[in-house]
Amino acid sequence: MFRLSNLISSVVEDKKARSLNGSIAIWNFTNRCNLSCIHCYSKADLNAVDTLTTEMIMDTLPKLKANGVKFLIFSGGEPLTRKDLFEIADKCKELGIITYLSTNGLYVGQKNAKKILDTFNYVGISIDGSEKTHDHFRGLDGSFKMSMEAVNLLNSYHDTKVGIRFTITKETYEDLQFIFELAEKENIPKIYISHLVYSGRGLDNLEMDLTKEQRRAAVEYILEKAFEYYETGREIEIVTGNMEQDAILFLEKFREKYPELKDTMHKRLVEWGGNSAGRKLLNIDSEGNVKPDPFFPKMIGNIINQDFTDIWTDKPDELLSKLRVHPREISGKCVECDYLNICNGGSRSRAYAIYGDMWAEDPSCYLTENEIKGQF
Ligand code: SF4
Repeated sequence: MFRLSNLISSVVEDKKARSLNGSIAIWNFTNRCNLSCIHCYSKADLNAVDTLTTEMIMDTLPKLKANGVKFLIFSGGEPLTRKDLFEIADKCKELGIITYLSTNGLYVGQKNAKKILDTFNYVGISIDGSEKTHDHFRGLDGSFKMSMEAVNLLNSYHDTKVGIRFTITKETYEDLQFIFELAEKENIPKIYISHLVYSGRGLDNLEMDLTKEQRRAAVEYILEKAFEYYETGREIEIVTGNMEQDAILFLEKFREKYPELKDTMHKRLVEWGGNSAGRKLLNIDSEGNVKPDPFFPKMIGNIINQDFTDIWTDKPDELLSKLRVHPREISGKCVECDYLNICNGGSRSRAYAIYGDMWAEDPSCYLTENEIKGQF
C-alpha cells in the first residue's frame, strides 16, 4: 500500500512518519460472495462452503499477534457472509490487532451499521466507477446503488472510518475522474486505488489490464489529485495498491513541488521499501493456505496442518527468505534501476503470471529506461 497523501503531509509538515511497526495480514475468511466480479482474484461464488472453522481461526489469531501482525484486513469473498465475523473481530480487538473490513457493502444496513463501525477500525467498500460501469463490472444491476447506500450510511455515523476501493482496469479507466468527484461530492474521506494483479479471474481476463500508457496517465492524474487535495486542505486521503512504481513517479512530482524536501522524501520512501509481500505482508486464503500476498501463485504453508509460527518465523520456506532480502534480486530492467530500493521490483505475482519467472521484472512497470536512471 502506498499512502501518498500521508507522505506528502508528513514530509512537508515535518511530522513523524506513520511507520508500520509490524505486519499486515489479509485474510480471506470465506470464498462465498453475493457478487461475481470480472476481476475477482478469489474466483468467489455464492455457493462456496467455508473450510476454516471458527475454532481454527480463533486458534491462529494469537499466533498472528505473536509473530508481529498488527493489522488484519478481513476479506473474502464477501466477509459479511460469515456469521462468526464479529466474534473474530472482537478477538482481534482483545489481542490489540487493528481490523479493516473490505466489503462490497451489500450486507451493510441500518441493523448492523453501528455494530460494524464499533467493531472495525476501518471499512473499505468497493466502488468500481459510475453506476453503469460498476454494475457491469460487479455482475449485478443495482449493486452500485446498494454499495453507495452502505458508504453513505456508514459515513453518516462516522466520517473518518469509511473509504471507497476502486480497481483500475480498461473497463473502469474512463471512470477514474468520476470516483474522485464522487468522493468530493459525498465527503468520502479515503480513496484506495488498486492496480490489477494477475490472479483468479484477473488472470483469466488479462486483456482487461491497462496499457502502460493508460496506467501512466491514470497515475499522473491520481498524483495530481493528491497534491491538489493537500494544497487546498481537502481531507480526502489517497492510497494506491499493487503498484510500487507509483512511488517513483510520485517522488519526481514531489521534487518539482518541494525541491528542498526531495532528499527527505527519498529517505522516507526507502524506509517504506516498496513491495512487502512475504516481509511485512501475508495472506491466508479461505482454505487456510498462507501466501506472501493474496495474489501469489505459490503457498508457503497451511494453518490447518501446520503451526503459523513455524510457517512465518521458525521454519520459513526458501521462497520467504528470498522475498525478505531487501532490495530483492530482480532481473530485467530492475537491474539497471536506481530506485530498486524504493520499489523493490514490484509484483512477483505479475512477473510469474507473464514470464513464468518469479524473479523477472514486473511486466506492468510503466517507467521508461531513462526514468529508471533518474532522467525524467
Ligand atoms: S524497473 Fe523494476 S525496480 Fe525499477 S521501478 Fe520498474 S519494477 Fe521497480
